[in-house]
Order: sequence, then structure tokens, then C-alpha cells
Amino acid sequence: MDVMEIFHASVALITGLMVGSFLNVVIWRLPRGENLAKPRSACPGCGKLIVWFDNIPVLSWLALGAKCRRCKTPIAMRYPLVELLTGVLFLLAWQAHGAHLGTAITVALFLAALVAISFIDLDHRIIPDAISKPGIVLFVLAAPLSLLHATGELAWTRDWFPGAKPALNALVDAGLGAVLGAAVILLIRAIGTWILKKEAMGLGDVKLLAFIGAVVGPLLSLYGLVIGCFGGAIIGGILFLIGKHRPMPCAMDVQGLGAEGRDLRAHFTRTKVRDGEDADFEVHGAPEAAVGTPVRVNLTLPATRILEDENAELALKGHIAAVEGTGDARQWLLKITEHTDLDAERVGMYARSYRYIPFGPFLALGGALCALYPQHVHWFMTEGYPSFARTLFGN
Ligand SMILES: [Zn+2]
Repeated sequence: MDVMEIFHASVALITGLMVGSFLNVVIWRLPRGENLAKPRSACPGCGKLIVWFDNIPVLSWLALGAKCRRCKTPIAMRYPLVELLTGVLFLLAWQAHGAHLGTAITVALFLAALVAISFIDLDHRIIPDAISKPGIVLFVLAAPLSLLHATGELAWTRDWFPGAKPALNALVDAGLGAVLGAAVILLIRAIGTWILKKEAMGLGDVKLLAFIGAVVGPLLSLYGLVIGCFGGAIIGGILFLIGKHRPMPCAMDVQGLGAEGRDLRAHFTRTKVRDGEDADFEVHGAPEAAVGTPVRVNLTLPATRILEDENAELALKGHIAAVEGTGDARQWLLKITEHTDLDAERVGMYARSYRYIPFGPFLALGGALCALYPQHVHWFMTEGYPSFARTLFGN
């Protein structure tokens, strides 16, 4: 590696780290309908604005020992991980496509959007329209700037209008990619809904594959879908076997116990909450408190595609039935004895929705691989996998 290569790679990595820092803001604020630009980030514990030298990607988190400088509220490892992931993805985009700046920038921006979409889908079971819809339009219009839709150099694209300008062919390729991506998921969705007799896949996934198709074109968007399905089946199977239940992210405002406004993670231990019956919760990341302490909880269920509406507010009363763990790992088991505005059916739907594994992150993984390594993915799908399958099944 010569000096200029190291310099360019460093620029890509650092740009990615800074974009990742912004993505943390997007992932938190976008699904909550908050402004992305204002106000500046503040500590959720003490409300103090975060100064620039405490906001340097990854390094500040390490230097501060994962705690707020002033009030020592823990800062989740998720923040530096998103920054690091985005940094590495920008570096990979540069390594894969650095020979053509337009392609490298297109792929890097696409990967950044996928990171935000994946984490929002994990947290809220929503693929935000605010990213996928403008993404489709922008990336179709920007198609002539990258080589992802260029014919000739890449084996899987073709001249849709032979003899026409390359820019026109790129626009058509991107547009067809978006349309085919949406159509395929709509078809799978219709078949799944017909078989399962309930909504099999969200419209968010339709727009996500359309977005991926706009970036990588029709054929690669299908490869992306195949990779997403295999990834989802493998990881989903493993999670099903180990029976992992994710705690649901709820904004829990536990009054009178020093936990106001903290975004604790709640986990319903029962999915069926009937009116007049106790509802039980596990509260993760809870502050110190004695067993038997009465609690008043305001619970906000974030909007999800399952609830199909805005944030739902619940007011609960009860007591701490047990405390497990210490420090950051402390967990309360709450016994809820009274509740107002509790729409039992809605809570049950919300709880059940968190048993599902979101498909968005797997589609995003497929899209990312196709954008970063189109040649390799194409080779694998047309030659590598078929020959592997022939060896495996002796045919
Ligand atoms: Zn603080």
C-alpha cells in the first residue's frame, strides 16, 4: 500500500465513522417523529448537552468508559458499534469501488441508509418511508453517476435500448430494478397472506426491495432477496431453537424512583392481557429499588406496523415483585395491579409482534452484498452455488 492509498482509506473510514454518529441520531429520532437537526444531542440521564470532544465516534465512548462524563449514566455499546459498522462499510465501499468515485459514493450512501433502516426495523418493526421512498427516487435519478447499472463492464446488466445513451440505459435499469423489487415482494406477500391467512410481510419490505432494486438493478435485487431469505431462515431457525425473546423497547417513565424519562426496556412476560387481570413486565436497565416498592409507570408503545398507529400510551400502577442483577444489568419484575387506558388487544398484538423476526435487516444484508460485491454475488448465483449443489447432491 502506498501513502495515497492509506490516506484515501483513512478518509473513507473516518467519513463512515462520522456518518455512523449521525445515523445513531436518525435511528433514535426518526421513528419518534423528532427533528433530526435540532436540538443537539444531550445525555438522557442529566440532560446536559454533549460537547464535541465527548462526541467523537467510538473514541469518546472508550475514553469516557461508556458513561456520561457528568452523571455517569451508562452509554449503550450500540452507539460505538453503529459508528464502527458504518466506518467499516465505507471502507469496504472504497476498497470495492474506489476506482470510480461516483460508484463508491453511491454505494457508501446506500449502505448508510441500510444501516439506519436495519436498526429502526429491529427496534420498532418499521421500515421508515422517510428513508425508503426518497431513496428510491434519488437512487434512480443518480443511476447514471455510478457503474452499478453500466453495461459492458458488468456481466448481468444489458442495454435495454441498444444504441441509446448509457445514462438512459442506467435510468431504465434502476427504474426496472425498483419496479421488479416491489413486484416480487408484493407477490410473495400475497401468496404468504393467502396461505397464513394473515399479513405475511409488511409494505415496508416492498419499499425496501424497491429501494435496493433502484440501486443494484433488477437481477441483483433478486439475488439480494435470495440472500435475505436464506439469512433470515438460518438466523430465524437458530433464534427459534434457542427460544430467544427480545425485550421490547418501550419508553417507560417510572415515577418517583429516579427513572423519569429514561428509555428502559420492558418485556411482557404474558402476551395475553385481559382486562382486570394483572399484567407482568420485566424492566431491563432499571435503577436501584427495593422489592415491594410501589411504582407508577407510564408506558409508551412505539408505533409499529402491527399497531398501525401512533405511539400508544398506557398508565400502570403496581409494585416491584423482584429485583435481579446489579448495575447496568439490573432488572425489575413488575407486578401490575391497576391500569388505565389499557387496550388489552393492542398490548397483546404488540407483544406478539416482538416474537417475529424482522425481515428488513436480512434484505438489507442481501442488498449490501450485491452493491459491494456484484461480480462475486453474480458468480456465486450462476456458477458457484450450482456447482456446489451438484457436488453436494452428486448430480
Ligand atoms: Zn449525564
